[in-house]
Amino acid sequence: MKFKTKVIHAGQEPDEATGSVITPLYLTSTYRQEAVSSHKGFEYSRSGNPTRKVLEECLASLESGSFGLAFASGMAAEHAVISTLRPGDHVVACGDMYGGTYRLFEEVFKPFGLEFSYVGWEATEFERAVKDNTKLFWIETPTNPLIRLIDIRAVADIAGKNQIKLVTDNTFATPCFQQPLLLGADLVIHSTTKYIGGHSDLIGGALILNDRDWYDRIRYIQNAVGAVPGAFDSWLMLRGIKTLAIRMKQHEENALRIAAFLEDHPMVSEVYYPGLESSPYYELAGKQMSGFGGMVSFKLKDGNIDIANKFFKKLKIIALAESLGGVESLINYPSVMTHGSIPEKQRIAIGITKDLIRLSAGIEDAGDLIGDLSRALPSA
Ligand SMILES: *Cc1c(COP(=O)(O)O)cnc(C)c1O
Repeated sequence: MKFKTKVIHAGQEPDEATGSVITPLYLTSTYRQEAVSSHKGFEYSRSGNPTRKVLEECLASLESGSFGLAFASGMAAEHAVISTLRPGDHVVACGDMYGGTYRLFEEVFKPFGLEFSYVGWEATEFERAVKDNTKLFWIETPTNPLIRLIDIRAVADIAGKNQIKLVTDNTFATPCFQQPLLLGADLVIHSTTKYIGGHSDLIGGALILNDRDWYDRIRYIQNAVGAVPGAFDSWLMLRGIKTLAIRMKQHEENALRIAAFLEDHPMVSEVYYPGLESSPYYELAGKQMSGFGGMVSFKLKDGNIDIANKFFKKLKIIALAESLGGVESLINYPSVMTHGSIPEKQRIAIGITKDLIRLSAGIEDAGDLIGDLSRALPSA
């Protein structure tokens, strides 16, 4: 099956009992058993729920992986992965990543004796950071919020040579535009809150992987800890996934037009979008992605929080808000909002400065979005 067919059908057989074309919503916590230890595969909805199971199978298929696991949030999914490590284990992560991931590593896991190092976005930096106790490489590509690309295959090769597993956060690209497992990654993470859900109406996370032992361990943790999505959120994710392919196409088309508009604007000093031919990542995008995605970041000339606030207030269509990947366009001020939990010195080293703005292009009319930006941007 091709991707556009998978989003509609993968894991989503019509219901056996009724023929219902859409996966039923199983709002139940428990399941009647015929006799002790005799059941139809479901005992209790923390351990398994039929709606969630369909979602997990669908996600595995979309990422061309063997196993999928759904969680109550992207952070819960990340927590489950790191929970498979032991005190003394070491993780090398790209520094330019979601602020909440950094916070999870530093504030939750470091006190339990795990070690984390942060490097840039070149594969060679991962190689130099390897130590005897390194167990995981952790990357996001495109990165958040500077939309840099990391060469997945190159990092996977270094990981493989050193018996290290590679985790890739594929939230920004989605399996529609990038499938890291096919490029050598061992595990893919999603905040399904974003493009996979796609309608800013749920919080969710997912993991997809091929290694059965690792899957069994994470599944054990999923049940033991219990950070699972409810049946209704699982159902909403399935509903969102149906339109993933067509939404991503429109997100990308709008992002490309907005990026080109911003690149020509006199009050914009930098634009970060891999689909611009001027981007240093244009070529790598062609190698590992089948689309450039819907996220565009840019810097306002001599920008600061006051100038940014004036700009945000003048926007009529694009809303200032955390999050991304929904059908509506959202704009964000990373240094205070999404990435406020990263210490200032480190933020600046990554490039998350006071003039930086991140835009999630929705699927509205591109001309309307550009008109909104054009009206609100400071004049030269
Ligand atoms: C939002 C996000 C997360 C965290 O996911 P939640 O669903 O908010 O818990 C992780 N990684 C990336 C890239 C994100 O954008």
